[in-house]
Amino acid sequence: MFKLYNTMSRSKEIFKPIQPGKAIVFSCGPSIYRRPHIGNYRTFLYEDLLIKYLKHLKYKVKYTTIMTDIEDKTITEAKTKGEKVDALTDDIAKRFFSEAKLLGIELPNPVPRSSTGKKQTVLLIKKLLQSGHAYKYNGDIFFDPLKFNGFGKLFKLDMSKWPKTKVRFKKDTYNGRRWNRGDFILWHGYKEGDITVWDTEIGKGRPSWNIQDPAIITEHLGYSIDINCGGIDNIFRHHDYNIAIIESISGKEYAKYYLHGEHLIANGKSMSKSRGNILYPEDMLRNRHKPYHLRFFLLYTHYRKKLNLTDKKFNETSDYLDSIRSLVRKILSVKNSSKKSAPGITEEINFIKKDFEEKMNDDLGFGSAINCLFKNLNNLKLKKDNNQLDYNNVNMLEKILKEIDNFAGVLF
Ligand code: AMP
Repeated sequence: MFKLYNTMSRSKEIFKPIQPGKAIVFSCGPSIYRRPHIGNYRTFLYEDLLIKYLKHLKYKVKYTTIMTDIEDKTITEAKTKGEKVDALTDDIAKRFFSEAKLLGIELPNPVPRSSTGKKQTVLLIKKLLQSGHAYKYNGDIFFDPLKFNGFGKLFKLDMSKWPKTKVRFKKDTYNGRRWNRGDFILWHGYKEGDITVWDTEIGKGRPSWNIQDPAIITEHLGYSIDINCGGIDNIFRHHDYNIAIIESISGKEYAKYYLHGEHLIANGKSMSKSRGNILYPEDMLRNRHKPYHLRFFLLYTHYRKKLNLTDKKFNETSDYLDSIRSLVRKILSVKNSSKKSAPGITEEINFIKKDFEEKMNDDLGFGSAINCLFKNLNNLKLKKDNNQLDYNNVNMLEKILKEIDNFAGVLF
């Protein structure tokens, strides 16, 4: 039984999708006004592991993510650099694709950008205006949380503290953990000098960050999905905004499970431009380190635990992976396979898969699964050294390890 920790219930739950055998998943992708750093990749990697593991469990997976390419920060960055928004975001998207490939992350093809969701964005806002959840104000359009029963249910927001007088938040991206108590923006009406402008039925302007995920989700996956995932910072506002927008329109539960990955920090400090400690994949792939070392490092610590990156820890984790890979090579080499295996070996090999899956089934316990694999392989290596492993069993083990590596992506 596959269990996932659902942020909505703050507990582990057995995964039961809306339609048996099918899993519909959305993950928050990168904002492409700047390059993703290795913290972002940590989140994208646990999501990659989730998707591939669901496939391993034979679910038919329908999955999408998004590249956010219109928000305030994108426009500011393009203006500062004197570049066109498209040129800036195209460049970063290209880099994102090649780095994701390097780390073994399989992305949907194509990855929708928020700029492709014009029709759906306008449709959603029109519906919200019609139902009274949204209203126009000075050319902009805002969502009124007081019109949505259950607002803030993911964060467990205390609505009794909601301001009596109207507060409107125009900024569409936020830092930190503070909750903005007030109406949030859906649509920025056109102002002179704006460089991203859509001419639409609801007027001239541009979509806010808050409406872009709901537009892509509902267009590509529908109004009810199984799993919504992202990093822990999204529990504050962002995912509650998705819920409020989508459920106000559909009147149905948006997602059954919400997954949130903890952040990666570097040498005990969160990564930030002002500290100058932001790390990118190439910073980690110097000397002996290969992309699979980085993939392993970012996946080995459980996705709901904070991961502190230090050189020492990265080296130790890479040494550990190297010893696992070398063990795999030694056991699978045809040399010194015996004619006939000792009794019980077939069961022992089948147990390797079962044991790995058992740990993975416990909320994607990849690190524990790897530790068990290492222990089990060491036991098997002893048998092989004593001529107790025949050629057929070696083949059988190879097949199982390759199946595991379809989602792990680090063993071969
Ligand atoms: P962004 O491009 O800022 O929208 O982030 C893309 C994804 O990376 C989101 O799911 C964020 O929650 C996640 N994220 C941001 N910073 C970190 C970090 N330091 N460690 C892990 N995930 C992060």
